[in-house]
Amino acid sequence: MVSRVIPVEPFDLVVFGATGDLARRKILPGLYRRWLGGQIPPESRLIGAARSAMALAGFRDFAAQAIAEFVAADKRDPVAEAAFLDRLDYVALDATGETGWADLSARMRGGVVRAFYFSVAPALFGPLAERLKLHGIADDDSRIVVEKPFGSDLETARALNATLARHFHEAQIYRIDHYLGKETVQNLMAVRFANILFEPLWNSQYVDHVQITVAETVGVAGRASYYDKSGAMRDMVQNHMMQLLCLIAMEPPYHFDPDAVRDEKLKVIRALDPVRPADIVRGQYLAGIGQPSYRDDVENPESQSESFVALRVNISNWRWKGTPFYLRTGKRLRARVSEIAVTFKEPPHSIFDDAQGWRENVLVIRLQPDEGMNLKVMIKEPGPGGMRLVQVPLDMSFAEALGEEGSDMPDAYERLIMDVIRGNQTLFMRGDEVEAAWAWTDPVIDLWEGERPQGYEPGTSGPEEALMLMHRDGRRWREIR
Ligand code: NAP
Repeated sequence: MVSRVIPVEPFDLVVFGATGDLARRKILPGLYRRWLGGQIPPESRLIGAARSAMALAGFRDFAAQAIAEFVAADKRDPVAEAAFLDRLDYVALDATGETGWADLSARMRGGVVRAFYFSVAPALFGPLAERLKLHGIADDDSRIVVEKPFGSDLETARALNATLARHFHEAQIYRIDHYLGKETVQNLMAVRFANILFEPLWNSQYVDHVQITVAETVGVAGRASYYDKSGAMRDMVQNHMMQLLCLIAMEPPYHFDPDAVRDEKLKVIRALDPVRPADIVRGQYLAGIGQPSYRDDVENPESQSESFVALRVNISNWRWKGTPFYLRTGKRLRARVSEIAVTFKEPPHSIFDDAQGWRENVLVIRLQPDEGMNLKVMIKEPGPGGMRLVQVPLDMSFAEALGEEGSDMPDAYERLIMDVIRGNQTLFMRGDEVEAAWAWTDPVIDLWEGERPQGYEPGTSGPEEALMLMHRDGRRWREIR
């Protein structure tokens, strides 16, 4: 299959927070990969900005180290790498002060797309937006990319939206949720809306339930102080899992167009029922062999924050009334898995005697570790044993199905940065969407104010109570493995 890389127009991209962890692990390596893929025109400029008074050579060394650490050896090319590093520039500036801004202004060119990536703490989003306008660096065609977390509740999200809106209009604001940049997540829309096969069955008449799992093996060490204030509900459910839920549940948009897609997602969020206390399980990982507990990791023996949450969610609309969506996410679980499983109902009548062998059809959409989909279907067990049924997966690993191109899929961040340059907001959250997501999340969090989460053993699937959440409905979670 021939790779189809669509180059973009030359652009100037300023990465604020260019010496930080996200820039090192994702943004700089991602830009290098797009450069290597021939997508970044050589006239483009990539300007790093942070407070540290660093010489340009120092920043290029930092970028070279990031590439060495986070780009696979077979994707490294010394000639391309040298040319890429040569494109990098660096400006020392303070988001909250006046130093460095004139310097940045002097490096910007006219006539090209200007994009500004705010890879800094959220408290700096407002000051950066303000200064970009004050110094005439951003104009009405410029774009800003805003990292998560976007607020910590409805009130703070509204305030942040209002601050950004003072300087930029909505079409210029790209609120990033890197889950939306994943190949499989976009494929979810392709599978749903480019095939006739699934859509007629995609409703409560045929879908028994949907499970969304985001399980991690790591603990919170390294992000402890942020995480302990946030917990799994704010860190994962309000944004990433809510976005996945929306893409599964939304109505077909009239066109694959940013506002058409986001309008449909918003309708799903607004149709979510409030969650009942009985439909929530919160957990906190305990110490394991040679592993600290959550409370040790966050150095807070009284912490009430959850490192695990499982929820049963209902969507009150015609399509989904009666089909529960079960969400669960947690840290220090048995395996690192992100997947969506759509479980269909049983056929109305079995013509086979071997009905015990029957299992539900399940469409599993894997986001990680290896992105792909599989559809579990019933077939006849091969051999002379009569008509015995067995379930087999129709498996599609994107890497295998698409050959070399599939194994070289851009990382979510690279894809999203290129979308910013193209001016395509489809995979970014709109302000009203984020506010609606908080409006649903806040009362859920209020329900457990002051309550202690259940302890769970590391390396398991979370607290026992989470298993009960589905057992009591006569269903079971898919195994985390
Ligand atoms: P970080 O490692 O703490 O880096 C922060 C960056 O901001 C540094 O380059 C820092 O450089 C710069 N900075 C701090 N104060 C500044 C100021 N007053 N003016 C200009 N620059 C300033 O943070 P991070 O982990 O990269 O995270 C950045 C953003 O991405 C945050 O919003 C975070 O929530 C989000 N995010 C990060 C990850 C991740 O994996 N790291 C994942 C999802 C979202 P100086 O100290 O030199 O100024």
